[in-house]
Amino acid sequence: MPKKILIAILGVAAIVFAAYTLTPQYNSVQAPVIPINQPKTKVKQVELVLPNASPITARVEDYNQPTSLWAVVSKEHPLPDAHFVPAGLAVPPVRTRIDKSIAEQSLRSDIEPDVIALFGAAEAAGHSVMVASGYRSYEQQQIYFTSYSRQYGEEAANKFSARPGQSEHQTGLAFDVSLTSRECYLEICFSEREAGKWFAAHSYEYGFILRYPEDKTAITQYQYEPWHFRYVGRDLAKALHDSKLTLDEACPYLQAALTEMKARGAAN
Ligand SMILES: [Zn+2]
Repeated sequence: MPKKILIAILGVAAIVFAAYTLTPQYNSVQAPVIPINQPKTKVKQVELVLPNASPITARVEDYNQPTSLWAVVSKEHPLPDAHFVPAGLAVPPVRTRIDKSIAEQSLRSDIEPDVIALFGAAEAAGHSVMVASGYRSYEQQQIYFTSYSRQYGEEAANKFSARPGQSEHQTGLAFDVSLTSRECYLEICFSEREAGKWFAAHSYEYGFILRYPEDKTAITQYQYEPWHFRYVGRDLAKALHDSKLTLDEACPYLQAALTEMKARGAAN
């Protein structure tokens, strides 16, 4: 082939190639991006607003589920399965009452970082405290409740001890705190000790709430328990602290957030 023809062919090919690559291969009007597989976490993030508290944007937990960090377990809201056992129970690396069973020294391991942070901060503030009682199985709770009922009568016992299947301790998210000296052990006077005051004031910073406050006994249906703390996560704990609502009183707000989450889930 003559050299000139070859150059001409290559030149034409180069022009065609350049024209092709320089021409937009798509419509210049940007089409909206339609996500096909939107991450589920985004759908589950909704705003939760409690009165007198800053709104929180959180992954909404179904408070009806015993595995939920927001699980509501009470006399009126017993565990759906009375024999529920949470997964991942472990003795946290903080002081625990070692003469209790391994099970009762345990809490859910996924909340361990905040358990360590809470007890670390308490120790740093000068308080020698321990987990006196953490997870309790249905059977363990039955033993306690039967024993207290024999001692005080069933009605009186149920003011400070839950029937099996109705105890937060069965979720692995609640514990009773005590001084290592065991002074004021599970007694109201714990609230007057410096450690009791510290826990009441600071536990929310680490995701825990004082579950049975003195001025809410009619709502919680339990006596004032300055030693009983319950994990709900830092966002909700702060919102509950600021709003001064119990977990029971927050139920309608949790339900509203849950309904919104489900509606969004359906829309997606
Ligand atoms: Zn308790």
